[in-house]
Amino acid sequence: MAGGAPELVVVAEGVSALGSRRWREYRSALAAAGRGRVYELLRALRDRGLLRAVVCVGDDPGFEAALGRDHVVYVYGSPWRLRCRGCGRAVRVDARLLALEEPPRCPGCGARLEPEPGAEPSPRALAEALGALLSATHALFAWIRRATYLVTLMAVAAARSGVEVYCGPGMPEWVPCRRVDPLAFLEELASAHGR
Ligand SMILES: [Zn+2]
Repeated sequence: MAGGAPELVVVAEGVSALGSRRWREYRSALAAAGRGRVYELLRALRDRGLLRAVVCVGDDPGFEAALGRDHVVYVYGSPWRLRCRGCGRAVRVDARLLALEEPPRCPGCGARLEPEPGAEPSPRALAEALGALLSATHALFAWIRRATYLVTLMAVAAARSGVEVYCGPGMPEWVPCRRVDPLAFLEELASAHGR
């Protein structure tokens, strides 16, 4: 990785999966979110101006815990928001909500609130994700468990736009990219552009 300072976008399903919609597991996943070497490296890259965004195509709460809201695009909705099954109202998760033993209910209609990420991508988040991805210099596709059409098309579009695309395990062989170990890639980038 030679030349000027890269602007990296990471596309990932998630380092640690939220995995469960049950209130107790959900609370503990959020409480533990953002700890670990990957998040540390992403934070270091962000602080050096090298990380433009993480595009999360899953529901990993760790990215936002580590990087803050401005550096993460949740294509399928944020795990830090709950959405009402009844009226669709969104409620941001805070410490008060996380302290509740029972799943919270909607302040509007009283129906059950659930983690927001759903089966369909949000068009607005998708536009934001593509905007960041296609104007980056480098893209890392990593921590992908299911390489959906959306993710593979993102990689192809980025490569076609002149973005240097790197892929960890989980991406199909036909995707044009350089194969890397994602953690080693981030370590190398951080040390190459360290202070
Ligand atoms: Zn409601």
